[in-house]
Amino acid sequence: MPAQTYEFQAEARQLLDLVINSIYSNKEIFLRELLSNASDALDKLRLASLQNSDLDVKTDDLHIEIERDEKERILKVIDNGIGMNRDELTNLIGTIARSGTAEFLAKAAEDKKAVSDLIGQFGVGFYSVFMVAKKAIIDTRKAGEEGGWHWESDGDGSYTVEESDYSKQGTTITLILKDADEENELDDYSQEWTIRNLVKRYSDFISYPIRMMVTKHETVPAEKEGEEPKHIEKEEEETLNSMQALWARPEKEVEAKEYNEFYRHIAHDWHDPLKTVTLKGEGTFEFQSLLFIPSKAPFDLYLPDHRRGIQLYVKRVFIMDDCEDLVPQYLRFLRGVVDASDLSLNISREILQKNRQIKAINKSIVRKILGTLKGMMYEKAENGEKAEEAENAVKEENAEKKEARKLSADYLTFWNEFGKVLKEGLYNDYANRDKILETVLAATTHSAELTTLEDYVSRMKENQKEIYYIAGENRAVLEKAPQMEMFKAKGIEVLIFSDPIDSIWLETVPEFDGKKFKSILRGEIDLGDEEEKKAAEEKLSEQRKDMADLLGWMKSGLDSSVKEVRLSTRLVDSPACLVSDEQDLTPSMEKIMKAMGQEVPKVKRILELNPEHVIVKRLHELYADKKDEADLKDIVSVLYDQALLAEGGELEDPSGFSARLCKVISKALK
Ligand code: ADP
Repeated sequence: MPAQTYEFQAEARQLLDLVINSIYSNKEIFLRELLSNASDALDKLRLASLQNSDLDVKTDDLHIEIERDEKERILKVIDNGIGMNRDELTNLIGTIARSGTAEFLAKAAEDKKAVSDLIGQFGVGFYSVFMVAKKAIIDTRKAGEEGGWHWESDGDGSYTVEESDYSKQGTTITLILKDADEENELDDYSQEWTIRNLVKRYSDFISYPIRMMVTKHETVPAEKEGEEPKHIEKEEEETLNSMQALWARPEKEVEAKEYNEFYRHIAHDWHDPLKTVTLKGEGTFEFQSLLFIPSKAPFDLYLPDHRRGIQLYVKRVFIMDDCEDLVPQYLRFLRGVVDASDLSLNISREILQKNRQIKAINKSIVRKILGTLKGMMYEKAENGEKAEEAENAVKEENAEKKEARKLSADYLTFWNEFGKVLKEGLYNDYANRDKILETVLAATTHSAELTTLEDYVSRMKENQKEIYYIAGENRAVLEKAPQMEMFKAKGIEVLIFSDPIDSIWLETVPEFDGKKFKSILRGEIDLGDEEEKKAAEEKLSEQRKDMADLLGWMKSGLDSSVKEVRLSTRLVDSPACLVSDEQDLTPSMEKIMKAMGQEVPKVKRILELNPEHVIVKRLHELYADKKDEADLKDIVSVLYDQALLAEGGELEDPSGFSARLCKVISKALK
């Protein structure tokens, strides 16, 4: 059959365009991508042969070869791994199935400058070869199948595929290199030393030999006296990488940049990790683990088919990617490797779920990571004081030192990128809830910076018993909510939670450090000391008696929206606000549950009035005079709607509201 020409899928074409025309300076990473793919293909073949003993393959010398031709400007990467069949060639190379690609491309098109950063975040895999090659050729044969396949593309939007007599095991990638071009930071990738350096830098730890013919210089001693020794050059095959599993080497012998390169290899990320964590389990279940906290959240962290990045090895043999059972959902941002000693090589995903050893490893990873996060939180003081000492300052109630304690830049980065994910653990992992709470950061009315709960508690007023918070969707709106007024007036700190997840965990987590979480949008609030409270209560009960008729009449008018109209001391400048009853859903929670497809009955709230406010006072007088009841009704309705607006809520009848407002204004202007 003749070669058939195919178009790249639209999204793949866009990505190719982006890669080819990008000013991305790090073009050399194409080699890392090819070697990673080859290494994956060898892993897959080894695994397939273990699972299927009938598979006719050779696994005694799995390796990668690099061939160069300086004159013809050709570079080949050859593996004897699993190979690809026709469908895989067209599906894996010609399309991008990853969800989120469209959004990624839209973003990249918008912001040309950020392209290289975006490419880094997205990972372009095989397509990166078109940064250095004018033509790429794939020759491959799938393990266990007869015929081979030949694939070719100039990266210009189409590719061809045809049957071939490629009979070797695995895949050969051939690149016809572009000319070296210093201005565009394009090196000559046919040079021996260039390749040697790149392999060392990016792929040293790959566990299969990467071989290449190299030129060796030798000196042969003279045969006879008086003659010069001879210098000869000979071509010899050499293994370029050390093949050492990084996680098995003692930590102090490994350089940070080696860890970073390894991270990039397994995470398909082009950034350095934020934090490298090594972990060893000894005793009943032996394992070694090398984990990374990335410095940037991948764009698909919240998508359902997000790839989870812990690889499972058994005694140095790769078993699987994305081993979900090794870490809980809320730590799904972790990348890395776990190498367990006592598992079977044939272990399947189904068995893993119930495996005691995997459970034990999961537990120690969680413990280690939460401990690491805790340790990252504060900046180490400049005068050499350790975080621990600052910690003691908190315990000793040393207010000055506590104030001086600063959250570290690394932790703030972590929190910005992954805080929302970590908070899922607050309702998913009961056993570790307190530990996770210790790492939570929140916005606060105390300062523009984020705070820990521990620091909040240390600043609580003498007779304050609860942790006050407000939760909703928009920080700016929450900060100005009428319900905040009395807290501001009395200088009482309120935490502000504006991630959707906050409304969820705050429903299920009752307290921190023995102090209850108390939403200021809910129930009654008692502020101030006992005496103050008593005086206020007496006054309020007088006013209540006085205005009882008005309150009853207002309630009957607003019956479909509120369950009660009452006076409160919560307000200072505003005439009214809405609060939820102690057991009721707050509006933000209601919205979240609806978004999750749950039926929620309409929750009626409580309208609270400020008896000191001129509007409320006048309303009372007019009502007592029994005049213009229709006008008063409009005013009450506007009062309710504006309270809803002030907290960022949505009006049920916006046009009715604006008509009533205009009526009220017209009257006032007469
Ligand atoms: P990624 O490696 O991120 O999945 P790539 O674009 O690099 O993306 O590769 C796409 C897919 O093509 C790989 O996941 C793999 O299934 C297949 N592939 C690439 N190179 C090889 C190879 N040398 N041998 C076998 N399969 C390969």
